[in-house]
Parts: sequence; structure tokens; C-alpha cells
Amino acid sequence: MQETSYYWASVPKREPRKPLSGAEQVDLAVVGAGLTGLSAALEAASAGLSVAVLESEYVGFGASGRNGGLLCPGFAVSPGDFGLDQDSQAGLWRLACDAVDLLHQRRQSLGIDCDWQPGYFMSAGKTSHMRELADYHEELEGLGYRGTQMVERAGVQDYVGSPVYKGGLFDPHGGHLHPLKYTLGLADAAEAQGATIFEGAPVQRIDADSAGHVVHTAQGQVRARHCFVANNAYASGLLPQQELYILPVATLIVCTEPLEPALAQVLTPSRACVDESYNILNYYHLTADNRMLFGGRSNYNGRIPADIAASVRPRMEHVFPQLKGAKIAHAWGGHVAITLERTPQVGRTQDGVLFAQGFSGQGLALSGQVGKVMAQAVLGEQAGFDLFAKLPHKAFPGGKALRMPLQVLGMLYYRLQDLLP
Ligand SMILES: Cc1cc2nc3c(=O)[nH]c(=O)nc-3n(C[C@H](O)[C@H](O)[C@H](O)COP(=O)(O)OP(=O)(O)OC[C@H]3O[C@@H](n4cnc5c(N)ncnc54)[C@H](O)[C@@H]3O)c2cc1C
Repeated sequence: MQETSYYWASVPKREPRKPLSGAEQVDLAVVGAGLTGLSAALEAASAGLSVAVLESEYVGFGASGRNGGLLCPGFAVSPGDFGLDQDSQAGLWRLACDAVDLLHQRRQSLGIDCDWQPGYFMSAGKTSHMRELADYHEELEGLGYRGTQMVERAGVQDYVGSPVYKGGLFDPHGGHLHPLKYTLGLADAAEAQGATIFEGAPVQRIDADSAGHVVHTAQGQVRARHCFVANNAYASGLLPQQELYILPVATLIVCTEPLEPALAQVLTPSRACVDESYNILNYYHLTADNRMLFGGRSNYNGRIPADIAASVRPRMEHVFPQLKGAKIAHAWGGHVAITLERTPQVGRTQDGVLFAQGFSGQGLALSGQVGKVMAQAVLGEQAGFDLFAKLPHKAFPGGKALRMPLQVLGMLYYRLQDLLP
């Protein structure tokens, strides 16, 4: 992944951090050095707790260092679909807005230069999608979320130079950034507050202990009063019961060579990021150095194809005929953890291990807030945790063996819906 991603090509090379060896004792052990785990580590270390982060590979190896960089305020579904009462919907919506503020507050106060660019355009591929976006717009206004505006077909060209959309909804509070720069910045900040990050340290087992938990890697153990597992789509059997609630879906990204400024200006005049109202959607934006970073083609069988560029290019050229034959400089893929409900799942196992997963493609900002809420729960402040934990969740039907084939069938149905007028 490090060899093929635009993100890794655009940050300075780093020395790996040390793996765990021997025994450590801390207040909080965090499994996974993505945005969720690092956010919890930063928050807890800033409050004076001793923190160890254990990462199988390296900081940013998972979705946090690979994602599309789109900051889309809110959740993957609208609050009305949470299956909760109105007060809980409003409370969760506030936490999602706080997630955006938290990201900005951190990148500014910690001095993380991560190519922030405001503006998020939700495009409508069909006329019926315009009606759904108008309903969503109304719902947001009802929640007191101001500033979004509906865009009719004639106005689309102000945001995106593509012939394929019927209109959209513009959100000035959204935008995009370089997610790896932000993730690496959070890791540095957590360390500056005293947290220790171990790389090349896959956690094999977590045992309950009279004083809390013992977290085992092949070369060492960490005794911790509290343990938080933040391994999301890259989970591999550590909390097997929890993994039944998420499905790791593969999604692919390509990035062109830098484009001529005049062409870049035509493709997204506002430089906003764009996603689509389809079930299987494209998402894209211009990078700071004028490349088109284009994500699309989700594989619900979890597989990343060998030739990612060949897989994504037709989708990019459909949206932007102007990019026909454009040179693709980088191509990579990654896994998104989705839940059946498309809302994140937050909770505690019977042994008291905290976990958070299933941001369903919308974790760039939410993961930071969830990480913060987990640290607050460890510090005895439960309100945010309790609100997230209210979100109802069901395991994927079919158990571990059949959830994938059943979901593939389900997605064929949704793909058909996308293709119908
Ligand atoms: C290609 C792609 C595009 C996306 N685009 C967007 C987007 O544009 N906008 C958006 O909001 N969201 C997007 N997402 C989703 C978003 O990136 C995630 O929701 C978010 O990064 C989740 O962060 P995390 O820290 O929970 O998980 P991750 O970043 O995946 O981190 C989990 C970490 O846990 C480690 N780990 C796993 N098991 C163990 C173990 N046993 N021991 C130690 N470590 C372990 C992994 O190595 C990994 O580094 C995208 C995701 C992908 C893959």
C-alpha cells in the first residue's frame, strides 16, 4: 500500500516505531493506530492517563491512511433512520457536528497541515434522488443545521464540470483533506502528550484480569486498567462476536498526474469534494497539487482487484469525459467496515473491553469524536458513549461464513436500483 498510494508518496519517509517487547503497565491500552484509536490515545494522554497504542503494521496502515479524504458532516444515513427517539437523534446529530469542530480544532491547535479545502457537494444521479436530497435538506434545517443549499441542474457546473448529474445539495461545512497527513499528525500529538505507540505489534489476545486486562502480542504484554479496540475493517478475530456486526467492503481509489490548472478549474470549479446519491457511489476531489483523486467501485465480496486503475478508470471517464486517457499515477484500495444499519457501533464486551467500529464510509470526522468519547468514558464521563451506544445494531445474517455471499446478493439488487432510471 505504501508503494502505490498518493498519500504515502506525498509525505516524508519515516523511521518505523519500535514493536512491543517485554511487559508494560498503563491506564489505557488502545488496539489500532487509525483515527479512532489515536483520537482516544490523544484525549486520554492529554488528561494525564498513561497510554499504550498497539498497531499491527504502522500508523495509518488501515482505512485512516487510505481513505478518500472527504469530510461529509453527519452519518451515512439520515438521523430519521437511526431507529431512535427524536431527542437521541438530535443528540447524535450534535455529536456529529462536534466531530467536525473537533477535527478543525485539532488540526489548527496541533499545527497539522493537511491540505484542508472546504466545500462538499452531494450530487444527484437521478431526478428521484433530488427529491430525497430535498427531504434531507429539510431534515437538516429541522435539526438547526444551517447553510446547506439545494442546487438545480443548471447550477451543477458551478461545483462540478460533469454532464451526468441532475442537481445536488451543497454543504459548506464539509470539505476534504489529506487523511494520512492528519493521521500522522494525530499520532505525533498523542506521543507529545506522553502516549507510546508500538508498531509491528499485532495483538493476539486480550485476557480479563483482576486489575483490568492483559493485552498480548507475540513479544510482550500490556497490563491495562482499560482496553479499547479500534481495529474496524482490519479486525481479524480479536473480538469475534463483534466482527459479526461489520462487513469489510473493498473500495478503490485512483489519482492522476497533476492536471493543467485550466482543466482542474473546469472539473471542480469550487474545488469542493463530490460524492453521489447512488448505492454504489463515486467520490472525488482535486488534491492540493491539482490531481484528480477519484474513488469508486465497491466490492462487497471484499476483494481488491489486481488492476485497480483498469477497474476505476471507466467510472472516472464516465463522470469526466475530459479525463479520457489521463495518466493515472497512483492506485490503491482499502476496506470500509459497514454495519447493516450504516451507523457506527460502539460498546463494551462482557469482559469490559471497549470497542468502536462500522463507520460505514463516513469515519473521517466521526472516528475522532468516537475516539474522544471512548477516552471520556474511561475518565468516567459516560454521556457521549451512552448516546452512541444507543444506536441499535443487528449481526449480519449468515454468520461469518455466509454474510459475504448474502451481502453480495443484496448489493446486486441495489446496483440494479442504481441502473434503473
Ligand atoms: C478506500 C477508502 C476510502 C474511504 N473514504 C472515506 C471518505 O472519503 N470519507 C470518510 O469519512 N470515510 C472514508 N472511509 C472510511 C474511513 O477511512 C474510516 O471510517 C476510518 O478511517 C476508520 O478509522 P479507524 O481508526 O476506526 O480504522 P483504521 O484506520 O482502519 O485503523 C484500524 C487499525 O487497526 C489495526 N489493527 C487491526 N487489527 C489489529 C490487531 N489485532 N492488533 C493491532 N492492530 C490491529 C490495523 O492495522 C489498522 O491500522 C474510507 C475508507 C477506505 C478504506
